[in-house]
Amino acid sequence: MNRTRSHKPDDDLIIGGIEISRGDQLRVEIPITMLATQGALTMPVEVIAGDEHGPILVVTSTIHGDELNGIEVIRQLIPLLSPQSLSGTFIAIPIVNVPAFMTQSRYLPDRRDLNRSFPGSKSGSQASRIAHTVMEQVISQCTHLIDIHSASAHRSNAPQVRASLNKTAAAACAKAFGAPFIIHSAERDGSLRMAATNLGIPSIAYEAGDAGRFDRDAIDTGLIGVLGVMHHLDMISARDIHVKKIKRVKHEGSRTFESSKWIRATKGGLFRSHVTPGQDIEHEEFIGFIADAFGEGMTIIRSPLAGVVIGLTRNPVVGHGDALVHIAY
Ligand SMILES: [Zn+2]
Repeated sequence: MNRTRSHKPDDDLIIGGIEISRGDQLRVEIPITMLATQGALTMPVEVIAGDEHGPILVVTSTIHGDELNGIEVIRQLIPLLSPQSLSGTFIAIPIVNVPAFMTQSRYLPDRRDLNRSFPGSKSGSQASRIAHTVMEQVISQCTHLIDIHSASAHRSNAPQVRASLNKTAAAACAKAFGAPFIIHSAERDGSLRMAATNLGIPSIAYEAGDAGRFDRDAIDTGLIGVLGVMHHLDMISARDIHVKKIKRVKHEGSRTFESSKWIRATKGGLFRSHVTPGQDIEHEEFIGFIADAFGEGMTIIRSPLAGVVIGLTRNPVVGHGDALVHIAY
C-alpha cells in the first residue's frame, strides 16, 4: 500500500546525528551494532549535499555481504559528483551489511538475511536492529532509493532493474536507469525496497553480475544507470558530469518484462548449461542437460517459455528442484 508522505526539504537532513548543510561533502560513521569484543561497529555513509535544492537520492549496496558490484559503482560515482554540480543530496551506503561483508557471507553471522529484516525494530535481532538503524538514520529522510545487488553465490545475473512498474515514479526511475532489462517485480516482504516503498519512496533494485567479484559490464551499466536516474531527477546535468570519461555501455534501450520464472532441475546430477545471461531464448529451446558423473541418466532441459535469460546457476552440481536458469518473459 502506498501512502503519501510529505518530503522533508533536503536542508533539514540529519544523518547519524550530524546536521548536513548545503554544500557539504562528508563521511558519516553510523553506529550499527556492538561486536562481541564490545567495540562498536559502524556503517560508513557518504553524503554530498548539492549547492542547489533537489531530491535526496540514496544508493545502497551490499545488503548481502558478498555482493560487491554496487560498492565499485559507488566508488567510481563519488569522484564524479561534487556539491557544486549537484541539485539535491546524494547519499551512498556502499556496505549496508557490514558484519556480513567482513565475513564475506551473504548473511549475518546468525544466518539471518538482512534483506528480509526491514523495516526492523529497535529491540529485535542484530539484523532487525541494523535494518531499523538504516531506516531511521537514512532511508526515511530520502526521496528516492536505488538498491544494488548481485546474484547470490554460484549464480550470475544479466544487468537488470527490478521495480514495481505499476508505481509511476519507480517505473520512471527504472526506465531512466537504462539497464538492458527491466523486470516488473513486486517488493518482497522484509526487503529494503518494500520498506522504502511503504514510506512512499520510489525505489528500484539493480541486480547484476556474480557475488564475490567485480564484473566490468555490471559496474559500467550500474554507474551509467545511477547517473541516468540522477539526470532524470534533475540532480545533475549531463554537461556537468564527466560522463565522457566513463566507458559508455551501449544498450539498445531497456527491454521490459512482466514476469520471470526459474527453470528448475527435474532430477539431481550435474547440469551443463548451454545458455548465457542476457541471451534470448525460444519456447522449447535447448538450455542444457543433467546427467550423472559418468554422463549417464541424461535428461535434456528445454525452456518452457520464450524470453531472455536473466540469471543462471554457475554450480553444475544440482539437486532435484534446484534453480537452473532464470527466464524473464
Ligand atoms: Zn542481494
